[in-house]
Amino acid sequence: MSTALLTHPDCARHETPPGHPEQVARLAAVLDALADADLVRRAAPLAADDDILRVHPPGYLNTVKEAEPEEGWAAFDGDTFLSPGSVAAAYRAVGAAVTAVDMVMAGEVANAFCAVRPPGHHAEHGTAMGFCLFGTVAIAAKHALDHHGLSRVAIVDFDVHHGNGTQDLVEADGRILFCSTHQMPLYPGTGARHETGAHNTVVNIPLGNGSDGRDFRALVTTGILPRIDAFQPELILISAGFDAHRDDPLAGVELVEADFEWITERLCDLADTHAGGKVVSCLEGGYDLAALGRSARAHVDVLRERGA
Ligand SMILES: [Zn+2]
Repeated sequence: MSTALLTHPDCARHETPPGHPEQVARLAAVLDALADADLVRRAAPLAADDDILRVHPPGYLNTVKEAEPEEGWAAFDGDTFLSPGSVAAAYRAVGAAVTAVDMVMAGEVANAFCAVRPPGHHAEHGTAMGFCLFGTVAIAAKHALDHHGLSRVAIVDFDVHHGNGTQDLVEADGRILFCSTHQMPLYPGTGARHETGAHNTVVNIPLGNGSDGRDFRALVTTGILPRIDAFQPELILISAGFDAHRDDPLAGVELVEADFEWITERLCDLADTHAGGKVVSCLEGGYDLAALGRSARAHVDVLRERGA
């Protein structure tokens, strides 16, 4: 067995205005860091509209398509922009995640990492926000349940920002356990512990400004790992944002590469116990290019070791 890397050059066609942290160079930083890694490399296909429509309404899909400018930028809000090529990038991101699920479910690879952008975890049912257009990981979860017939999927989001979009898209579905660690207070402002969802399948673990790896590991160990263990997921999806790194300019959590390795190990342990090792991880945030590259490599190296 082995680890897949899914990406596509179209993910670099989504351009943001000068100075925007969610920049094209992020993708290059990740791919450069993975350049000599032994991975099953697969070009991400374009998603089908039906994939996106698993979580977003047709009117929203049309709004995104029609908003793409012929030149320059269109803005959904002060953070969330489209350039020529943005829709293709977002379709590749979803296509990567869905294909990664297919590859892992088929036993073609043990696990997979999707190096894609734009990120997805802030996109709500009918709202683009926080650099995100489509709820990529939520779509992958619904695909695993509805296309592959799984009964339980867990999503773990360790991006430093709350995955409000993923929560919005999956909290009504008791087949999905959504667990998020995030700095609070911080954008987008949601993710308090009392937000547990209609089926008690939402687990929010806020981190204070200045939290370090010891704090993070303690909270994950007590608040998230036992919940996943009890839920017995048949597949674990990861929203892998690396902006909780201490070098990241957008937040104040102080994780280092070893902390990302640690949580990846723990999630692989749980996947081994309940899911035949099946893990699919998708890039979300991470805005210090050097820290992003090192962190993504550390994360993927654990997937490789565990998937070997
Ligand atoms: Zn983030």
